Amino acid sequence: MLFEFSELDWLFHDTEDIESFLNRIIDLIYKHMKITGCSIYLIDESSDQLVFMASEQTVGETGRTLDRQKHHLKRDDGLYGKAVESGKVEFDSRKRRIMAVPINRGQMPIGVMRLERRRRPFKHIDAATMRFLASQLANILENARTFMMDAKNTGIEQTYSSLEFNTQITLQGTGASPGPAYGNSFTLDRKRSFTELRRLRFERVYTYLELSKAIDKTEEQLLELQKGVEENLSDSASLIFTSHLLILKDKSFNNEIKSRIITGINPPAALLAVAENYIKLFAENENPVVREKVEDLEDLIQRIFANLLGDDIAPVNAGGRIVIAKSLYPSDILMLASERTAGILLVSGGVTSHISILAQSLKIPMVILDFTDLLKTDKPLPIVLDGESGRICINPNQDIVDEFQEIAKRSRKNERQPLIEETVTKCGKKIGLYTNINLIPDLEEAIKMNAEGIGLYRTEFPFLLRNSLPTEEEQYSIYKQVIELSGNRPITFRTLDVGGDKVLSYYRDYSEENPFLGLRSIRFSLQNPAIFRQQIRAILRAAGNKRIKLMFPMISTMEELRTAKDLVLQSFEELQEDGESPVMPEIGAMIEIPSLLAILDHICEEVDFLSIGTNDFIQYMLAVDRNNEKLKDYYIPHNPSVLRGLKMIADVSAAHNIELTVCGEMAHQREYIPFLLGIGIKNLSVSTAFLHETQQIIAGTHLDEARDLADEIISYSSTYEIERRLGIQ
Ligand code: PEP
Ligand code: MG
Repeated sequence: MLFEFSELDWLFHDTEDIESFLNRIIDLIYKHMKITGCSIYLIDESSDQLVFMASEQTVGETGRTLDRQKHHLKRDDGLYGKAVESGKVEFDSRKRRIMAVPINRGQMPIGVMRLERRRRPFKHIDAATMRFLASQLANILENARTFMMDAKNTGIEQTYSSLEFNTQITLQGTGASPGPAYGNSFTLDRKRSFTELRRLRFERVYTYLELSKAIDKTEEQLLELQKGVEENLSDSASLIFTSHLLILKDKSFNNEIKSRIITGINPPAALLAVAENYIKLFAENENPVVREKVEDLEDLIQRIFANLLGDDIAPVNAGGRIVIAKSLYPSDILMLASERTAGILLVSGGVTSHISILAQSLKIPMVILDFTDLLKTDKPLPIVLDGESGRICINPNQDIVDEFQEIAKRSRKNERQPLIEETVTKCGKKIGLYTNINLIPDLEEAIKMNAEGIGLYRTEFPFLLRNSLPTEEEQYSIYKQVIELSGNRPITFRTLDVGGDKVLSYYRDYSEENPFLGLRSIRFSLQNPAIFRQQIRAILRAAGNKRIKLMFPMISTMEELRTAKDLVLQSFEELQEDGESPVMPEIGAMIEIPSLLAILDHICEEVDFLSIGTNDFIQYMLAVDRNNEKLKDYYIPHNPSVLRGLKMIADVSAAHNIELTVCGEMAHQREYIPFLLGIGIKNLSVSTAFLHETQQIIAGTHLDEARDLADEIISYSSTYEIERRLGIQ
């Protein structure tokens, strides 16, 4: 017997209050079950809900944190509900790392306990032990329940919609952009913030002078932010605040405000009323680009209010804060970067989404956590966030803040560490380790780190951050900077990969039911040959006499590849006709769509190189949205079909002597690198944040062992077996 009766007896005696009693139970379970998390819920008959009572979670190496946040779940909610309903111990999945143990008094269900382990699965003996404990505790928990359900003043009546988050809470999300961050939260929900402005009651009558000073200050701040973007992010120097500034300068906008003030309306109310009229006008406009201005206007008015009434009444600046948001456009992230946001907590989305990739480029730590209730918090909450592990802590205690500071110090140190010159395996074989870049700051960092070359330049990022399509000259000047900075290093330009979650704001009128299966990537380029040719011309002109690599994303048929190549040739010849002397680039295709597997040998005859974009390859192979955090259990890189597909690509390209790189997120993931090297991959391309670690993992891998591992893994047909072999939790 794992639990001794004497221990249970100790639980029943000398308990000062119910909370300390619950904590003792949790302590006991921790001690015996070697778990990493435990929560207790009890049933409230009157509302037919499960009421959360207590929880403790292991946080890093520092110990456990207690969470007494009260909230309700529906009685039939998920795993808990299942356990209550069936009266049996239930597990989350085959992995058995979460176990829900019903608490029954006789036949009557009174609650449920949830146990969690990070590594080892729960076994039958664990279930039996917990059933025993639950039956012993049922009696006293039943009393506790009656008492607590009656104690209205304990806050149990709170519902999710009024969560206050006033105790320490640790939550496990998914790391999306590495780096630690600490700050007060700032909820980015423009619609809601603007609605709140409408409800403001002004304490006094302001003067016109005060309003115009606030407007001038807002203009200065916007110009300052704009300047910062231009200096720090030269390739994305889109005028992100253009519409804000234009509205501020608009004569009729200003005159309308003045004429209302003259009639005796309080200046902030006059500003709001005029803004409302414009919002209505914009919102009803047929042109989506004008409709989009509603958000800019709302943002602008909030900024003016913050300057007029004070940041506490109308908070607007995300500087130094942890921004909590549901969804973000690339331009939002750029604004946040310009305001020096400390970190982002996205309450929906996926790790391989392009917002994450952009956050990585802009070095904003980001965690994705499927928990929209966080948006409902009214007051700023102190939050520690670790973009690496995905852990967040709300209202952290001093120990956790200290731990954060330690991580921050380490990560600053790592940033400065350059790569060693050659990337070699443990057995001395050279591996090409390249970097993925999206914006010029990535390239600057890669060079500082001595990266050997650029394996993927996502050229669409400067397009995404602008308000209109960049001209050939604008593109030329960006690419020229890239070419000059990269010096002799090899560089792979990927042609425009828009669509899906990379929507160009100036093409938003084109809406699709299934954008990821729609006019994405090379399809967009081939349907807009003028845009495509313009880009190729800009790249080839900027490359001058350097032979670059040019790669087409999301090729799915031979026809697409050939048409894209023809367009490159046409642009090349056009440039020659214009008197330029371009150098023909090496041509490559990305393998992201499984249809290419079937014709890969033919594709090899048409290209100089290939690159596997595992992010999309997994998405299309498994038909799982790479951006949907809720589906993350389906988005499995080590699915046997994915791994066999990768092996097939490696074999066919080796047989045709075609250089092959892996440039998706798998390329830096510790658990997959030995497999990739084992199937014969000789080049990896990873974002700068992961360069150093990837080099170290390669250095620790012996190719003979990696090959054996790959052979073994390829023989498995189930994900479970592969997980066991790779030690994936
Ligand atoms: C990929 O799909 O793996 C890839 C590298 O391209 P992106 O992430 O930009 O879609
Ligand atoms: Mg892709």
